[in-house]
Amino acid sequence: MIDELGSVPAGTVVEFAARDLDIYPSPAVIAEAFSRREGRCVLGRPLYHEGEVPTGILATVPELKRMLLRPRLGQPPIATKKNARRGQDALYAIADAEPMPPATPQVERKRLLQRICAECQATSQLPFQPANDGKYYCEKHKRAADEREERQRIVDDSFRSALWSREILADPDTALVAMTWDRESQGYPFRVETVAGDVVLERVLPYVTGAPLLNATANDLPSWVNDPAGLVIADRRIIEAPSVHAVAAYRKLLGASDLDLRGINIAPRDEDNLARRYHRYANHPDRRHLFDGATRANTASVDWKRSLLTAAQVIEQIRQVLFEMARCPLSPDEVKRAKRLPRVPRSRASRRSVFRDVMLDVLEQNAGLGVRLYHPGASPLTPQE
Ligand SMILES: [Zn+2]
Repeated sequence: MIDELGSVPAGTVVEFAARDLDIYPSPAVIAEAFSRREGRCVLGRPLYHEGEVPTGILATVPELKRMLLRPRLGQPPIATKKNARRGQDALYAIADAEPMPPATPQVERKRLLQRICAECQATSQLPFQPANDGKYYCEKHKRAADEREERQRIVDDSFRSALWSREILADPDTALVAMTWDRESQGYPFRVETVAGDVVLERVLPYVTGAPLLNATANDLPSWVNDPAGLVIADRRIIEAPSVHAVAAYRKLLGASDLDLRGINIAPRDEDNLARRYHRYANHPDRRHLFDGATRANTASVDWKRSLLTAAQVIEQIRQVLFEMARCPLSPDEVKRAKRLPRVPRSRASRRSVFRDVMLDVLEQNAGLGVRLYHPGASPLTPQE
């Protein structure tokens, strides 16, 4: 029939009688399928639901691309895939598709890397999933690589904690802070020492640090609250006894004072959390025994508020925990590894948790603000009285 077209001038519209041609699917089949709305798409092509596509035979354009293929010029789709989000995707016969044209050498190299297992050199038509170390592995070796990476992360974190404690102990201005409960005076002894053991601050916080209580008892606040000497721990690096939130309580109390706290930072840094650091230190496979029974790990996170220790004894325990971590021997290579920034996980869950930490920090910083709002005797009123 194409031969008959030879005599027709170019650009002329030629009509065929549809009945002379074997069109599949025929217009009648298309119309019928359309009326039934099952098994075929509106264009009459076989319709597959997700998960039902014969994947070795048919593929969408993005799927072809992953196989380094593309539809040939003029290659028609022969089926349709139902897509929950965007409606429908055209499906092409994989056997009829042609290889993608060669890319730049860099892109070719990347394509190759993604399709060869870094462990056993197995190849795949589709790119492998990257492991947490950034390399590509076959399914079996990816799991092994991720486990290896996780073990290495635990070890590195442990050495990072050891380095951290050395850094803390080397800074003479670092403040070690503890607070306990004294039944006799019904107050919280609050103590700050340097690493070397010099007492920086010693106070007894009254039992009125809650915001709602403060209104009624503002006049009962101890006079030292207004003493600028209490700001001696401002802008220092602070290591506080775990689980008591001594510094937050102290800051809250200062928030009710006449002192101008704008721009003054009294808070431990998030990375200076002693219990978390010690937990990571003891998580090293060689140090798991530290978690057994009544151990140092418990010492590091014990609720000192309820214990019978004095604040000075608690600080001594903080110091001992820091020294224990700092004594951990580190080879130059381990130091190098520990100083390297940890690989940032890319999952959405971990990004959310980073965001949450920042928000908690902001809320913590604003704890003092809450007191100001509740307490009418805060700074603006004092001059008139
Ligand atoms: Zn492999």
